[in-house]
Amino acid sequence: MSRIAYVNGQYLPHRHASIHIEDRGYQFADGVYEVVTIVNGKMIDEEGHMERLWRSLGELQIDAPMKAGPLKMIMREVVRRNGVVNGIIYLQITRGVAPRDHPFPKNTTPALVMTAKRLSMDKSERTAQAGVNVVTVPDIRWDRCDIKSVSLLPNVLAKQAAKDKNAYEAFQVDKNGMVTEGSSTNAWIVNQDGKVITRPTSNEILAGITRASLLRELEKKGVEFELRSFTVEELHNAREVFLTSSTSYVLPVVKVDEHVIGNGNPGSISVTLRQIYRDFMEDAS
Ligand code: PMP
Repeated sequence: MSRIAYVNGQYLPHRHASIHIEDRGYQFADGVYEVVTIVNGKMIDEEGHMERLWRSLGELQIDAPMKAGPLKMIMREVVRRNGVVNGIIYLQITRGVAPRDHPFPKNTTPALVMTAKRLSMDKSERTAQAGVNVVTVPDIRWDRCDIKSVSLLPNVLAKQAAKDKNAYEAFQVDKNGMVTEGSSTNAWIVNQDGKVITRPTSNEILAGITRASLLRELEKKGVEFELRSFTVEELHNAREVFLTSSTSYVLPVVKVDEHVIGNGNPGSISVTLRQIYRDFMEDAS
């Protein structure tokens, strides 16, 4: 019996069950899921799973693809079509398909996928009789910002927070009140002494390629800089602020929260650094 999946309104054999390459679940981990136990063909704690699903959807402002009633009917149908007596049903809802861009897209239809799998109760009993081993690991969820991972949901939420306030970017702040980086950019300041400052690379930020190239150009030109973390207060009171990324190059920032930076126009150092980076790109192309 071939396994059947439900994908956006269709029941399909697994080998034909696929989603769009620009599904936000695939590109940003912008989605939620549930796994429900099936015992003797019945869903266990269905209501608890539905409540948690609706809560997760609400927290991410993803519209439910349908009401709970029809959703439960489809879940039963997936269980039936897969002949699952004991096992699990997996259900995933993503924000849907949109051209890749961090903020929530407008007017997307959420994508709904379900699969079901048989599990052997006998095997489960045998495992339970022997017991299992456990190891401890540091809880690093998610402390590896140095990995350019597609689990970008926190970055998506940060970018949306910026958009909600009519801002281009959100600079994220760690538990010690130090600025880490933007949701998709690296953060820089020029302090009142004219020193260019950006955070050193570590597991706490992505080692931006633009950041690295700009630092290299600064070194070549003898422009002084400091690799250190800076506080939100330093950011608010900086002479200049700018950000870097492959899409934005070197981009001057003129306002952070309610603080106007400098005289509210791009600072002269930021403008010069943008030109230096533009020249670097011209020479490299
Ligand atoms: N930080 C984060 C979290 C990013 O997603 C990006 C963009 N990829 C950057 C920094 C900037 O990196 P790059 O200069 O390589 O584009």
